[in-house]
Amino acid sequence: MIQDTAIYNTLKEYFGYDSFRSHQKEIIENVLKGNDCLVVMPTGGGKSICYQLPAMLMDGLTIVVSPLIALMKDQVDGLQVNGISANYFNSSQTAAEHEAIFKAVENKETKLLYVAPESLSYLENIFSSVNVSLIAIDEAHCISSWGHDFRPAYTQLGYLKNRFPNTPLIALTATADKATREDIAQQLNIPHAKKYIASFDRKNISLEVRPGTERLQQITRFLNKRPNESGIIYCLSRKATENLAEKLQKAGFNAQAYHAGLNNNERSQTQEDFINDKIDIVCATIAFGMGIDKSNVRWVIHYNMPKNLEGYYQEIGRAGRDGLPSATLLFHSYADVVQLQQFAEGAGNAEVQIAKLERMKQYADALSCRRKILLSYFGEFLEEDCGNCDVCKNPPQFFNGTILAQKALSCVARLKEQENIGMVIDVLRGAHNQQVLEKNYQQIKTYGIANDISWRDWQHYIVQMVNLGYLEIAFHQKNALKLTPQAKDVLFNNQEVALTKPQEKVTVTPTEVKEKKKTKNSLFERLRQLRLDIAREEDIPAYLIFNDATLKEIEAERPITDDDFMRINGVGKRKMETYGYQFIKEIIAFNKEKETKKSRKKGATHLETFRLYQEGLSVEEIAKTRKLSATTIYSHISKLYQDGKDIDLMQFVDADDLKAVKEARKMLDNPDQLKPYYEHFEEAIDYWTIRLCLTLLGNDKSS
Ligand code: ADP
Ligand code: ZN
Repeated sequence: MIQDTAIYNTLKEYFGYDSFRSHQKEIIENVLKGNDCLVVMPTGGGKSICYQLPAMLMDGLTIVVSPLIALMKDQVDGLQVNGISANYFNSSQTAAEHEAIFKAVENKETKLLYVAPESLSYLENIFSSVNVSLIAIDEAHCISSWGHDFRPAYTQLGYLKNRFPNTPLIALTATADKATREDIAQQLNIPHAKKYIASFDRKNISLEVRPGTERLQQITRFLNKRPNESGIIYCLSRKATENLAEKLQKAGFNAQAYHAGLNNNERSQTQEDFINDKIDIVCATIAFGMGIDKSNVRWVIHYNMPKNLEGYYQEIGRAGRDGLPSATLLFHSYADVVQLQQFAEGAGNAEVQIAKLERMKQYADALSCRRKILLSYFGEFLEEDCGNCDVCKNPPQFFNGTILAQKALSCVARLKEQENIGMVIDVLRGAHNQQVLEKNYQQIKTYGIANDISWRDWQHYIVQMVNLGYLEIAFHQKNALKLTPQAKDVLFNNQEVALTKPQEKVTVTPTEVKEKKKTKNSLFERLRQLRLDIAREEDIPAYLIFNDATLKEIEAERPITDDDFMRINGVGKRKMETYGYQFIKEIIAFNKEKETKKSRKKGATHLETFRLYQEGLSVEEIAKTRKLSATTIYSHISKLYQDGKDIDLMQFVDADDLKAVKEARKMLDNPDQLKPYYEHFEEAIDYWTIRLCLTLLGNDKSS
């Protein structure tokens, strides 16, 4: 019987962790007892440790069946940096390499051997000469034709249990549904396997849906807030991935396209560069991701709406495997829905596809917690709202939209229910474009009755009216809007319509830009760079050295002794020995630089400004010379004046502004703060002007 302490010691020594995640410990104990297990855990749930840790505590060899040759090397590299001897065996290797592996296994120099299902038969001589202590089947759903990644070679795996009746077998998958689960247990001949089904809630992944207008602008803004972070943008078409990647490149982002139309080399190069942090952003069709074990994918964007929630959840699930906060963003556009609807109608099992698309749409249109909706689709019930989706964070505000709705509905009626959303909005807003004039719509009674509402807002309202059942889109009649029976109640019986306000339009704020600059010199960024340098040298993906969660903890704790460094989650014995010194050195250097900077700052930054002022430089020139903002220079000037230095403040302020500030000071509730003035003047007077005026006015409140 293996002791608890042995399990925890192994966890720390080889994996660097102090505690288990949900289900891990029970699974490990069950395996160590020699029992079969079926583990269903979401991506990032921590499946690997469930067989890797027992492998270290068991005598013989652990065989890991894994479907993707491309992933094996990374998995083995990941184990080796943790000080675990592992190897892989597949058809991409030479006979000599295979020989070397046989030797290593025979000499008990390998604890884990990864193998592709197709290559299992080549291992018969190993099987008969060594003790196989554990068999793990990764991505076990590939055995089931119910699942979505069926692999014919997996169906032979049933023989393993017959070949090794006394060896525990653990099957692992992230595919939840019951039919697949049963199928896996049956086909692998492990009918009595204990089933462990973890929650599919990935709390660290935030959910957000936005209208698909000005997508490029929205994406740019999103990316500006996340410099150097890895992410995936899923698009519907190959063309779209290329267009988007090109535009992002032009905007200065490190992006590449990935789709099935590229040749094998191009694709694997892009995938590899992404894994190795040489490319930050991949614009991809859904073909991308299956072979990605990268734990530091920080965000996922859906440029287009996916066709069902299964696909959506799988794709956003590629973010945040390391458990750190990760963002997802889905763009919801009416044009996408139309296109998907057409695809669905043309599909073999149209009815099912349409129903699935409908659920996807309901999710995107949701006015209550999105995670609840998502999890309920997968049969899980969430007691409380999640607090990490856009609806929870920013609950919709309803208003009485009856008049607005009446305008739109009567416009649809007057257009004889023959026009699509775009034309209806154009007519409502009184557009003068060619199509409107050609059809003489400027004669219609509702023409221009609502030009006080922007195009974008109208779109938001009309889509909502479709969702609320007042309007229908006739997909077979060029997407013309039709009135439903409920619409008549609104038009003729004044039935009330509650609508929600559109989200605020987004623009980049100065603080965001500052934020971006700040991260560049942060300790995290420097640790990240160090990690990248080491990764390049060792030719392995950076996240295998330390994942982002570990790097964040190093940043927060700033360990400078071996003992402290060893206490960090994710630092095991081997990693401490190999990388500890370099990271500690970097932290010490960072601390030192920070110290000197601080003391320099404390010294006399405003005196340096004074010196330049005396030389006759303008504020702008001083700011430029000192690489500081003008606002900072103004704050120096203000301080210098208060310190009694010879500064002519009046040259910086306008007499009218001074007077206005003086008046305002008498009326404001908080006359000692700047913000009330700024708001009082409706932003017409700069912060620095207000500040200088107040300095000039001094403490004498009566003046
Ligand atoms: P899965 O195979 O289920 O997608 P992994 O086994 O790749 O998940 O684990 C995902 C991430 O979580 C990895 O970065 C891994 O190091 C980390 N992890 C696993 N178990 C723990 C744990 N007990 N504590 C902290 N991190 C863990
Ligand atoms: Zn929520």
